[in-house]
Amino acid sequence: MIAVLKPSATQQQMEHICQWIRAQGVEVHVSKGQYQTILGLIGDTSRIDMELLESLEIVESVKRISEPFKSANRKFHPDDTVVEITPDIKLGGGHFQIIAGPCSVESHDQIIGIAKSVSASGATMLRGGAFKPRTSPYDFQGLKAEGLELLLEAKKITGMPIVTEIMSVEDLPLFENVDVLQVGARNMQNFDLLKHLGETRKPILLKRGLANTLKELLMSAEYIMAGGNENVILCERGIRTFETYTRNTLDLSAVPMLRELTHLPIVVDPSHATGTARLVEPMALAAAAAGADGIMVEVHNDPIHALCDGAQSLTPAQFDSLAQKIFKVRRAVTE
Ligand code: PEP
Ligand code: MN
Repeated sequence: MIAVLKPSATQQQMEHICQWIRAQGVEVHVSKGQYQTILGLIGDTSRIDMELLESLEIVESVKRISEPFKSANRKFHPDDTVVEITPDIKLGGGHFQIIAGPCSVESHDQIIGIAKSVSASGATMLRGGAFKPRTSPYDFQGLKAEGLELLLEAKKITGMPIVTEIMSVEDLPLFENVDVLQVGARNMQNFDLLKHLGETRKPILLKRGLANTLKELLMSAEYIMAGGNENVILCERGIRTFETYTRNTLDLSAVPMLRELTHLPIVVDPSHATGTARLVEPMALAAAAAGADGIMVEVHNDPIHALCDGAQSLTPAQFDSLAQKIFKVRRAVTE
């Protein structure tokens, strides 16, 4: 349920009404826009007498909403959320970032070399998996703690904030200096992990599950936000369909659809969506044109010998050409 307050409502009146609502066992999320204050009522709103609420002098209107996601809902929070990655790098609300790097951190020279080259091409954030969720237990599982150390070294050298996947709550202490914690597609509904991440205030890049709806993605975001962590970035990375020529099917309509439904920033990952390097550029450009707040792309110095996802990895030269085109598309759609 949401209650829109009249512009004339004072702070004291607003606090009074919030107290009254909370006394009935319902949480209130206050969103102060430029012109209006909106109260988002969270919990069992059946206890609230809607007519009574509407009759209060400072209330303009009351609406029951059916979506079960409250914190992520744009109705409660009309302004775009801007996630501050570092004091200089923000994502969302007009701040666009390119995240690039290898699927997995493989060695010191590999990650430092790729970090330097993607940074020179215009990437503003470095990705790289240290803990890898692989389909087969016999495949490379990542360098784990050592991989995180190498990412931190790359951050020190290039100044780029790092994005890397966390698979287990137990590893959380190792991620203290990581800028953005990625929740991979396979863990989108690992509710225990999401709850723990909700207790941190770290930016979280939440990837859409392989076969999950947008509502389920938003409900997972809700798990993180319910703990008080509002720094959630959503990532569309393709979903399973009957198509087999591509690794997944990139659901680009998710970008404008999520834009309507939520205030959270939206990033598109065309690498895992397509699985094929030559398809990454057109889909990355399409994502930028569709209004994504960021693009995440896999780049490898030697894709043929990559320990993971070589087929979808761009070479540094291919990435350089793509980045320049992305900036052009951004200019075209934002001017
Ligand atoms: C990744 O980004 O490295 C990854 C494993 O992606 P996803 O969870 O989308 O498959
Ligand atoms: Mn990968």
